[in-house]
Amino acid sequence: MQELRQMLRRVPNFPKPGISFKDITPILNNGEAFTSVIDALCGLAALHSPTKIVGIESRGFILGSAVAYAMHLPFVPARKKGKLPAETVQARYALEYGEDVLEMHKDALVPGDRVVVIDDLLATGGTAEAVCHLVESLGAELSGLLFLIELTELQGVKRLASYPVHVLIRE
Ligand code: AMP
Repeated sequence: MQELRQMLRRVPNFPKPGISFKDITPILNNGEAFTSVIDALCGLAALHSPTKIVGIESRGFILGSAVAYAMHLPFVPARKKGKLPAETVQARYALEYGEDVLEMHKDALVPGDRVVVIDDLLATGGTAEAVCHLVESLGAELSGLLFLIELTELQGVKRLASYPVHVLIRE
């Protein structure tokens, strides 16, 4: 994990002044590192015996689909508004300025599904919380959330306190 932490690229003032962007592409660009991240996420996901993996647009797709493939599980995308073609459920969440909407196909989950949600980074937790609401609105069980990185100062885990949260790299 120390090696992974060193591979993370921190880009100051991106996408706007004051933000230190945590760029995971150097990790993805190293076969051994990418594999060890996916293996570690699979080990954590397996603790919850999920029936489906949900990935959050867009870097959650990269990690989540690899985990789903490795575990022989279905993959479900949670997408930004207007991207999914069939009937959806929606959840609003707060951004720094204004709000945004995430969607999931209505038929993507059913009662009885146990879901593990994956994203690259946990900041305030607003995005992940919105996805938890989507999962539960479809009658599925939110079994756990996995993140490659947590920005600990922002205390997003507090917002997700009612769910098991696992993180590989704490910043
Ligand atoms: P939040 O809803 O505040 O937890 O924000 C999490 C979402 O925003 C994730 O999908 C991240 O990919 C993205 N994000 C937020 N802050 C950063 C950051 N400093 N570097 C990279 N991605 C970020």
